[in-house]
Amino acid sequence: MRKPIVLGNWKLNGSTASSEALVAGILAGVTGLDAIDVGVCPPFVLIPQTVRQAAHTDLKVGAQDCSEYVEGAYTAEVSADMLRDVGCHHVLIGHSERRALFGEQNDVIARKVGRALAAGLMPVLCVGETLEERQSGHMDEVVCSQVQAVINEVGVAAFDRIVIAYEPVWAIGTGLTASPEQAQAMHATIRGLIAGQNASVARAVRIQYGGSVKPDNAAELFSQPDIDGGLIGGASLKAEDFMIICRAA
Ligand code: 13P
Repeated sequence: MRKPIVLGNWKLNGSTASSEALVAGILAGVTGLDAIDVGVCPPFVLIPQTVRQAAHTDLKVGAQDCSEYVEGAYTAEVSADMLRDVGCHHVLIGHSERRALFGEQNDVIARKVGRALAAGLMPVLCVGETLEERQSGHMDEVVCSQVQAVINEVGVAAFDRIVIAYEPVWAIGTGLTASPEQAQAMHATIRGLIAGQNASVARAVRIQYGGSVKPDNAAELFSQPDIDGGLIGGASLKAEDFMIICRAA
């Protein structure tokens, strides 16, 4: 049985004060949720205070990105080792906003996953197709090539330490959610791609759904056989909504 995992991606939101209040709200609800993993991904500068606040609790703290470089003259980059050093557990890699707005390609993303693994972080590899790619019927090909690029870099066996987040670009922040059937179909496709290369890793790998997950649609999405929790944007900024979603997993 795969343990569901629900992560909040705060994106570019929050202050020291609002983050402290949000984490306090999450911590009040997270005790007793032993059957799932729950975590947050604050902006870099809020990570140390969040790690301190979540110490000795079940809440996992991670980042939204890491550098493909280890160290050196790379102004403004933050390495996977630095994230581990300040207490991160996981790191999102290849979020569609990084791909679309910051030009990250599959090769860079694959190297970042490698850096995260080497640092002892759990990479959360984000994949997903645009509306155009779905409407032209290329969505399976696009998403499989995003996953395969990382398999080619780190090997399929490493996917026992990687979480995949399927986030259709057209569903992110739009209020348009993939139907449970659409999401399940893509999750099964991703698991099938991995199964063709390593059956036991395919059975174990956790695949989250992300894209307009809300308290009122989470339970139906998470009840699909290949959906192992969610990556939550907007709804993770309200402790009450986020905890309803966590309890649905
Ligand atoms: P929303 O939940 O706001 O649609 O964002 C999803 C997302 O991008 C999580 O990484």
